[in-house]
Amino acid sequence: MHDIGKNIVGVVLACNNYEVIDMGVMVPCEKILERARAEKADLIGLSGLITPSLDEMVHVAREMERQGFKLPLLIGGATTSRAHTAVKIAPHYSEPVVHVLDASRAVPVTTSLLSEDGKPAFVAEHQAEYERLRKAHAAPRLPLISLGTARQRRTPIDWRIEDLPVPEFTGVRMLDNFPLATLRQFIDWTPFFHTWELKGVYPRIFEHPEQGEQARLLFAEGNALLDTIIAEKLITARGVYGFFPANAVGDDVELYTDESRIKVLERFHFLRQQIDKGSEPCRSLSDFIAPKETGLPDHIGAFAVTSGIGLKELCDRFRAANDDYNAIMAEALADRLAEAFAECLHKRVRDEWGYGRAESLTTDELIHEKYRGIRPAAGYPACPDHTEKGTLWRLLDVQAKTGMLITESFAMWPGSSVSGLYFAHPESRYFSLGKIDRDQVADYHERKGMSVAEVERWLGPNLNYDPA
Ligand code: SAH
Repeated sequence: MHDIGKNIVGVVLACNNYEVIDMGVMVPCEKILERARAEKADLIGLSGLITPSLDEMVHVAREMERQGFKLPLLIGGATTSRAHTAVKIAPHYSEPVVHVLDASRAVPVTTSLLSEDGKPAFVAEHQAEYERLRKAHAAPRLPLISLGTARQRRTPIDWRIEDLPVPEFTGVRMLDNFPLATLRQFIDWTPFFHTWELKGVYPRIFEHPEQGEQARLLFAEGNALLDTIIAEKLITARGVYGFFPANAVGDDVELYTDESRIKVLERFHFLRQQIDKGSEPCRSLSDFIAPKETGLPDHIGAFAVTSGIGLKELCDRFRAANDDYNAIMAEALADRLAEAFAECLHKRVRDEWGYGRAESLTTDELIHEKYRGIRPAAGYPACPDHTEKGTLWRLLDVQAKTGMLITESFAMWPGSSVSGLYFAHPESRYFSLGKIDRDQVADYHERKGMSVAEVERWLGPNLNYDPA
């Protein structure tokens, strides 16, 4: 996803007479600090979209301390949290480090930090709160069960051939210039309002006493721009997807080159819940694919879609005309279209898999995923390891076929992109991995052929121990 929040912060601060220097994405620490010195900045803000940004922020805080900076440091973005800021970042820097929950907080926080009268009280209050968060964090860790026990508690599934429909084709298919007008029908508008920091559910939000009017205006203006984008083909939607013979082997899922299931094409590595939930299973996504030892022929699907081709050029044109509002609006709409593409393609996939043909769901039911099967995405709670996107990219040859890339931190580019896997079994469901222990990290390191330190870096938020 785009860092739209960061763009909104920039605009909101500028509207309040602060000068904002936006250095873009993936800027090395030294460049940020050099520029802050050269411009005599009053504060520095860092935004983090994806797990590795968290470590980078700790590094920036350490460097600011080492180089004797006296500026406050603001932390924001999708992957950050107050707890992480308090526990991991703030202790490395003697000046205030403040987590800014959303763009609307950027102005009051900045104003407090830059006001001579307001600053001491604001900082004191903050430090007290962070101290509380650090104490809570230092409390005893969760009792986890061993990986072996967790595996014995896998999702109980009675494997039956009639639950394993065979898809119409295997291999990869491409979708170029996918009709935006079709995608529009699959848009889930609720997150659109969240992007603009209006909290509410579409369409009820229009009746909201305070936010209703603003919501109606944004919706009208968003749809007007969407009309133009569609009519003038200002952005292009493109995707790839495929079905593959697959079976589970332990917590991995093997994909085979053909139905003989002899040669492994790729392997996805999944993680398993280790929190003791009594009679509840310890789930892993691998539970939803028939284990190899059942001898049953199962399949898995994979996809990567984008609606971001041409988006940068469109936004650049708006920005060149000093129209930040429409630049942000275009990004917000492209994000909606990318999610809509994922929903629309999932419908086609269920039809091609057979079991979806009999379903008759309204748009609302589709958006609420009231159908059989799931499409988990790497980096989300059931499979938080972003690096599995590398396997997906190889499997579908995403870059050559669509131009979509994964950056070195495994973010997708263009921003308005969605990728994931399709599971068809009626028992498959979303869950949250939660905390895992050293035994699973060691096992995962073996399975993935990635060093323990690397695994710990990618799974930092899921570790039930401090790797240091
Ligand atoms: N209608 C929403 C869809 C996005 S959020 C929108 O337009 O923004 C829902 C998607 O997030 C799911 O389809 C899945 O791809 C992913 N997801 C949600 N919960 C997940 C979990 N626990 N594990 C993995 N992926 C998850």
